[in-house]
Amino acid sequence: MAVVRSGYSCPLCKRQTGDTNEVVADSGHLRCSKVDAHQFPDMSDFMDMRPTLDFKQEQPRPQAQPGHVPLTVRVPLSVKNAIDSKYGDKADGIVAGILLMMAEGECLVVRDTDLARIATVLPEKPKDSSHLFGMMMALKFELDEAKQSAELAAKEVKAYEGMSPGMVMVNLGDQYAAAQHRASADELPLKVACEKWLKNGLENSWF
Ligand SMILES: [Zn+2]
Repeated sequence: MAVVRSGYSCPLCKRQTGDTNEVVADSGHLRCSKVDAHQFPDMSDFMDMRPTLDFKQEQPRPQAQPGHVPLTVRVPLSVKNAIDSKYGDKADGIVAGILLMMAEGECLVVRDTDLARIATVLPEKPKDSSHLFGMMMALKFELDEAKQSAELAAKEVKAYEGMSPGMVMVNLGDQYAAAQHRASADELPLKVACEKWLKNGLENSWF
């Protein structure tokens, strides 16, 4: 049977010398890897000694998927270091994902500066291409809806004017509040006051 590392340091060594020596499982029995006399035949007695996990267990390297081959790409050292520190163990999978997209068809990589600019015109910074597409579609729907209601309003105005020859609709715009104020001073509804002012203006050539 192989010797298996436990990750725990020997509680006896720690108590006697302060050293951290790993406990190993040898042929099914726990023992200190440094001092042969330190044996722990009973697992629960061993745990009662409150051993501490001082040794990192080695992480098994992720197995390559069958049919996958390594691909070497030459990049400046600074790029490799930046990717290693940014993505760590996940770098392989992330780069493989990007290569897969390149192989599948056209793909677009958006630089950090452009991503920040895109985020200023969208509700939030896109997390991935599907998220970006979703936000663009939502904006398109909003735009279509606004266009439709504007077209409808324009049609309604035309129909209204067509039904009542001699009638015009006036957009008072930023003069609306002033007009309303004057109309109420004259104790007239705004529509009636506007008609009166316009007719007066035309009759007296105020323009
Ligand atoms: Zn020991």
